[in-house]
Amino acid sequence: MSELTSLTIADARDGLRKKSFSAAELANAHLAAMEKARSLNAYVLETPERAADMAKASDARIAKGEAGPLEGIPLAIKDLFCTQGVRTTAGSKILHNFEPTYESTVTSQLWRDGAVLLGKTNLDEFAMGSSNETSALGPVTSPWRRKGANTPLVPGGSSGGSAAAVAARIALGSTGTDTGGSIRQPAAFTGIVGLKPTYGRCSRWGIVAFASSLDQAGPFARTVRDTAILMRSMAGHDPKDTTSADVAVPDYEAAAGKSIKGMKIGIPKEYRVDGMPAEIEKLWEQGRAWLKDAGADLVEVSLPHTKYALPAYYIVAPAEASSNLARYDGVRYGLREQGRDVIGLYEATRAKGFGKEVRRRVMIGTYVLSAGYYDAYYVRAQKVRTLIKKDFEDCFKQGIHAMLTPATPSAAFGVGEKGGADPIEMYLNDVFTVTVNMAGLPGIAVPAGLDGQGLPLGLQLIGRPFDEETLFSLGQAIEDAAGRFEPEQWW
Ligand code: GLN
Repeated sequence: MSELTSLTIADARDGLRKKSFSAAELANAHLAAMEKARSLNAYVLETPERAADMAKASDARIAKGEAGPLEGIPLAIKDLFCTQGVRTTAGSKILHNFEPTYESTVTSQLWRDGAVLLGKTNLDEFAMGSSNETSALGPVTSPWRRKGANTPLVPGGSSGGSAAAVAARIALGSTGTDTGGSIRQPAAFTGIVGLKPTYGRCSRWGIVAFASSLDQAGPFARTVRDTAILMRSMAGHDPKDTTSADVAVPDYEAAAGKSIKGMKIGIPKEYRVDGMPAEIEKLWEQGRAWLKDAGADLVEVSLPHTKYALPAYYIVAPAEASSNLARYDGVRYGLREQGRDVIGLYEATRAKGFGKEVRRRVMIGTYVLSAGYYDAYYVRAQKVRTLIKKDFEDCFKQGIHAMLTPATPSAAFGVGEKGGADPIEMYLNDVFTVTVNMAGLPGIAVPAGLDGQGLPLGLQLIGRPFDEETLFSLGQAIEDAAGRFEPEQWW
């Protein structure tokens, strides 16, 4: 039955409707594969009972001819989405025992459409990281290995568990969140597709907040079409999130496979960064050739403020994080450490509950927001952000439909290899992805090839606001040319 775990979402959907197999069989195949893959640490919680109940309900709806768009499709959910009655940790000790009494809007829409919950996936603590190594529940091991080596590699982060689960075929699709690259970078590192939608496209309600003006939920899957299928269920207006946009949700799946003839694709020259490996440059060139062959016009463009995006992001994101994380005080939920008085309780709880990276961000954020430094750092970063957004707007005004860039400056690295002595080494991973969050735009990472060590590399497409459809069309063109990439099973 293991071939059931290799299906695409589109094929699984068709197989379920034709009754070639049942939702219960599909869920069971995944639960069995999950058990064998525990050494990857992709899931922090498996929910076999809930999966069985949901699959049974799906089978009943299929039998009655009432199947929803995702009926019976088993999914993994990043442990940053609140799931009612199912522990939600955000990868942090401070929420080690938190059982939400409500369901996030995005996940409730997935269940409304018939999807089945397999479990909650590992992540960097409060989604702060690029390698899944800041998780209080331990790192995730990527299903990929360098040719002829067994060094454990990171799956990327912060949505590392969600990406690893899809790549390792222990979920047909999964959810992630992307504040500075946390969907696109792990997708690129694990050879799968990941989409960060336009800010406001998916509701943030019920997702543990990191940096509220940058956070967006999005899907992971093994094909562009599958990502589009998931996206249709995840997107939509939600009055419970005041930044959620009231824009109609199109049929994203129909966009995957549409002709890209005549589309103008911008190649931003500022993404040719110093010290970029030759293999990444080659991949980018290959991507340009593929899009050209499919009928697109390639235009060199300039996004002059790109070099300020990373430093500005590492002011804005920690500033918002320090404010959002003020709520973890040991009084309302999660961990509580006793202190001499209430201040002592706050201090003891936060010192014990937060890991090193989270503490660092809270301190940076508090510093840049403090009275004497607010104008010099926070206000300045916000101005830079406006300029970054304007760079993109200027290009779109000239008729550019989307931009093509590499997704990451390197392939996946080894667990423990980066950021130990200098956190900036880890932050540099986000150089191609953070601009998109700063500008609120949609971006997709699509697998495009393997490097000399046999590790996947991805390309990124950046679109106009609320034009995810163009990204699916272009992404499909790349997938058609590049093919798909799967790790060999060693676990
Ligand atoms: N790696 C970035 C950070 O650590 C982005 C994380 C994210 O997108 N959640 O902030």
